[in-house]
Amino acid sequence: MNDRQSGQTISIVVPLYNEQESVRLLYTRLSEALSRLKQAYELIFVDDGSRDQTPGILDEIYEKDSRVCIVRLRRNFGQAAALQAGFDFCQGDIIISMDGDLQHDPEDIPQFLNKMAEGYDIVSGWRVARKDPWLTRRLPSRVANWLMAKLSGIPLHDFGTTFKAYRPEIIQNIQLYGELHRFIPALASWSGATITEIPIKNAIREKGRSHYGLSRTVRVLLDLISIKFLLDYSTRPLHFFGLLSLLSLGPGTVIGFFLLYEKLFLRKEIMFEHGPLIFAAVLFFLAGIQFLSVGLIGEMLSRTYYESQKKPIYTLRETKSRRREAALRPEPKEAVPAAGRQPFERIGK
Ligand code: UDP
Ligand code: MG
Repeated sequence: MNDRQSGQTISIVVPLYNEQESVRLLYTRLSEALSRLKQAYELIFVDDGSRDQTPGILDEIYEKDSRVCIVRLRRNFGQAAALQAGFDFCQGDIIISMDGDLQHDPEDIPQFLNKMAEGYDIVSGWRVARKDPWLTRRLPSRVANWLMAKLSGIPLHDFGTTFKAYRPEIIQNIQLYGELHRFIPALASWSGATITEIPIKNAIREKGRSHYGLSRTVRVLLDLISIKFLLDYSTRPLHFFGLLSLLSLGPGTVIGFFLLYEKLFLRKEIMFEHGPLIFAAVLFFLAGIQFLSVGLIGEMLSRTYYESQKKPIYTLRETKSRRREAALRPEPKEAVPAAGRQPFERIGK
């Protein structure tokens, strides 16, 4: 693909699950918005195992337009997996993900690009005036966003929307599980990505219906916990569980010694006089040992996790060195030891 203006190509990634009523209009509006930009682009429609007319309509569009790519999943894997499939497939210099139900307006795309041009790694959409139901959507999302901002330290207003722009090197380092696509900014912040947000329009879903209800809130909250843990402790689980363990073992030991003292020196019937305390000591002790064991197992798992997948425990911005130059320069002459073996003699020379 060749660009006429800035040399950058744009990849639009849209996950689609049973969106037969929206696809055609979506394609038209996307094409209109993008052709005005005079910039090379590709449209990646990910069919997440749709069982309606979506696949057929996508094929029609594909036949007409060479900028359209289709990624078809074998069954319905969910939005996160569909997005991941799209991200894995796309080749643009800037990736924009959005929903396929027309709740996101393609006319907002230039704004995303402008912000990206300022040098950010992620630009996130912010639904300033949300059009979703209050109790089942906006309220839980408010709470989740507030928690998310606090836990991740990224002051975004709206983690939930999938309308976002990314640089490919950021997104390629992230694997999406569960509902994790909501937390890409938090995950990316770990690798040092710069993140900002822009207001976007938010339309009511007119065709088809949402695939999610209130139950999603629970899943999002659970993911929140795992994110917090992954971000802060995935390379050092024992620091987390070890602290809990010490907090448990400490009181357990103190109480234990107290009881032992009462028993041995004061000859008290501790079973009768301090029943609840015995119970507490045992509980604290067991809990402490459990936490410790879980922490140690965690340490082993984290080593397997990082080493088996060759996952980096850091990310580089760049490296600089003069190694090549140094290698090309003639070696400075060194005094050769008069007798005896060379310190680094090559075997089999
Ligand atoms: N989607 C998907 N797979 C799924 C569920 C949803 O690819 O299992 C797509 C869906 O077609 C839409 C986007 O994800 O393009 C957002 O879905 P939806 O509108 O249902 O979510 P909401 O906007 O209500 O959060
Ligand atoms: Mg929607």
